[in-house]
Amino acid sequence: MNAVLVSSSYLIALGSNRRHHIYGRPRDVVRAAMEELAVLGTVTARSRIITTDPIGPAQRRFSNAALVITSEYDPLSLLAGLKHIESEFGRRTGQRWGDRVLDLDIVLWSGGAFASRTLTIPHREFRLRDFVLKPAQMVAPGWRDPVTGLSIRQLSARI
Ligand code: AMP
Repeated sequence: MNAVLVSSSYLIALGSNRRHHIYGRPRDVVRAAMEELAVLGTVTARSRIITTDPIGPAQRRFSNAALVITSEYDPLSLLAGLKHIESEFGRRTGQRWGDRVLDLDIVLWSGGAFASRTLTIPHREFRLRDFVLKPAQMVAPGWRDPVTGLSIRQLSARI
């Protein structure tokens, strides 16, 4: 019997606030990462790339974007794939809230909620982050957060 491949949709958030020695400005890093993510599935929607002010100790402005990808990877395998791409782009581990070449987060998953030691979906802080909700609204305005029941559009209107 053939194995049945189940595909899921994921809403992914991208961010960068450092130059890359090959790709260049953060905006170009995000654009290149959006192309690279196609190795993990089929990208069905891409937002524009927006520029946002830094939060916390980061010094430089961020470029942010979001996309929807359909993938046969389960959430933990997808996270491993995202971390691999982050490291290809030269992100140093242990940097939290600091300057970074590339940050990739899983915001929502069509399977609903997921929780393990290393991965929480929905992403814990996405409801308060305009730099996530704004691009997310361009690609998935009606997608509902399984925890609050609110759509991306509604969450965006609250902040
Ligand atoms: P940060 O540097 O703040 O993006 O945190 C990265 C770490 O958060 C990763 O190593 C993941 O193990 C963990 N993590 C937990 N939930 C998520 C999520 N929804 N998407 C991406 N990383 C996550």
